[in-house]
Amino acid sequence: ERMDFIEFFHHIIDRFEMNVPEGFQFNRDLPNQSYYVSIDVDKMTQVLDNVISNAIKYSPNGGTITFRVSKQRYQLLISVEDQGMGVAYDKLDKIFDRFYRADKARTRKFGGTGLGLAISKELVEAHHGRIWASSKEGKGTTINITLPLMGMKRRNRS
Ligand code: ATP
Ligand code: MG
Repeated sequence: ERMDFIEFFHHIIDRFEMNVPEGFQFNRDLPNQSYYVSIDVDKMTQVLDNVISNAIKYSPNGGTITFRVSKQRYQLLISVEDQGMGVAYDKLDKIFDRFYRADKARTRKFGGTGLGLAISKELVEAHHGRIWASSKEGKGTTINITLPLMGMKRRNRS
């Protein structure tokens, strides 16, 4: 389905923001115009839900979660950045493997199965996009996603 990714992303962030846990701030750095993508809405919602809930779940001390979207040639670059526990450099690829959970996450405190990012990767790649992580242990994590850009339109959001 062809749709404006910016509007779609705002809706998803709004839904989380209605219930932000204490100690978190949301910061949106989204363009003020429409960027069209061709997506399966349910599947891309599942991807973003998992990435955003991870950002919250693995930030035990709260912090700012920053949402960004920018245009990169023929793609949209979408990112979700947290100030949480981070991921060790040598584990950055492993977190996309099925059932992988970093040591610190294997406690009862952080419930989960370790499937979220593996499924997210399959779904993003089915959209001809990519997903990867960058992180500094103890400082935070950024999950980056690209999606092919189908078109754009100037718009003035107030
Ligand atoms: P599930 O999503 O299936 O409920 P999960 O959150 O453990 O469980 P994934 O979403 O696949 O599984 O994440 C895999 C692992 O990657 C996590 O257990 C955690 O160790 C690490 N991880 C994911 N996102 C972050 C993040 N934002 N900050 C720090 N570590 C993360
Ligand atoms: Mg998860």
